Amino acid sequence: GGAVLALSLAACSGEGAGGGGDTGGKDATDLTIGVSMPTQTSERWIADGNSVKEKLAAKGYQVNLQYAGDDIPTQSQQIDQMITQGADVLIVAAIDGTALSGQLQAAAEAKIPVISYDRLILDSPNVDFYVSFDNYKVGVAQATALLVGLGLKTKDDAKGPATGPFHIEIFAGSLDDNNAQYFFNGAMDTLKPFIDDKSLVVKSGQTRIEQAATLRWQQETAQKRMEDLLTSSYNDGTQVDGVLSPYDGISRGIITALQNAGYGTAGKKIPVVTGQDAEIASVKLINDGVQGSTVFKDTRLLAEQAVIAAEAFLQEKQPQANDTTTYDNKVKVVPSYLLPVETVYKEDIQAKLVDSGYWTAEEVAAGR
Ligand code: BGC
Repeated sequence: GGAVLALSLAACSGEGAGGGGDTGGKDATDLTIGVSMPTQTSERWIADGNSVKEKLAAKGYQVNLQYAGDDIPTQSQQIDQMITQGADVLIVAAIDGTALSGQLQAAAEAKIPVISYDRLILDSPNVDFYVSFDNYKVGVAQATALLVGLGLKTKDDAKGPATGPFHIEIFAGSLDDNNAQYFFNGAMDTLKPFIDDKSLVVKSGQTRIEQAATLRWQQETAQKRMEDLLTSSYNDGTQVDGVLSPYDGISRGIITALQNAGYGTAGKKIPVVTGQDAEIASVKLINDGVQGSTVFKDTRLLAEQAVIAAEAFLQEKQPQANDTTTYDNKVKVVPSYLLPVETVYKEDIQAKLVDSGYWTAEEVAAGR
């Protein structure tokens, strides 16, 4: 009977919790993790929030999950409140990476460890750990997908059959998000030789991140800029062949502008458009041959790393980093755990997104 009882107890206590992680004599149910997410307008953050919450709850912790509606004062207030309510660890995906120094100072004074989630919090000594993806490689993957889509490269990184010249435009993310610069650098380093040898031509000439940026990563802002680019640089009949886009929402704004201008109809091929996050609306567009690719970042794995880091802090240990040199937040280099990313073209949807349980085939077909 004893063995059976032990087994069923272990089963009840859920993964990990049964391992008797030492949380300073406190029960998991006495510990609260504050989780601050930027916005619900992009489904990746909803998935992130849900995954973190579920994984913490499964271990018995209390979770205070808040979304800030992409409004900086709201996020500051929500974090202030988590601190005054006695959070034991904070997990934060910042809207503006430079806007939270005050909150982080208060957290440090209350001895609350802070985990920077996906986006690095800048200008503060009080970021204790960073969990993210290899953000430079996201940019490399996006630029490579653009080159592959145009035929300038093959998928196995060899020289492709095409020579160009191809006309492209370049979009970047929100400048207050530290990731935007990494994505942009990875992409531009990859595109540079092709721009230099003129197989790629950025017809608008807008190749600086300040020109390409999209405040708060907004779809409408990207659509407007693409419309403006078509008017200012393509009214001589030149066709856009490709657009480097850093995020699926931006990609859909770009695609809408192009479709409104007649792209995707007879004789006017839809350009090669890249993306990021494998949002369902974009996965459908990829499946339909409208968007070229996306970069898949498995938010379930990121959530898992955040939970592992949170538990380490609760046990008064340092979480294990796999990168201790890259992410300088302007005050210190923050120990990081970085996950790999995967490019998804149409032919990868089944294996990488459906078989892994990220989306069902029905969701892919319906786009929601
Ligand atoms: C994230 C991306 C996301 C973007 C817009 C970035 O910080 O790393 O995955 O596409 O924000 O939400």
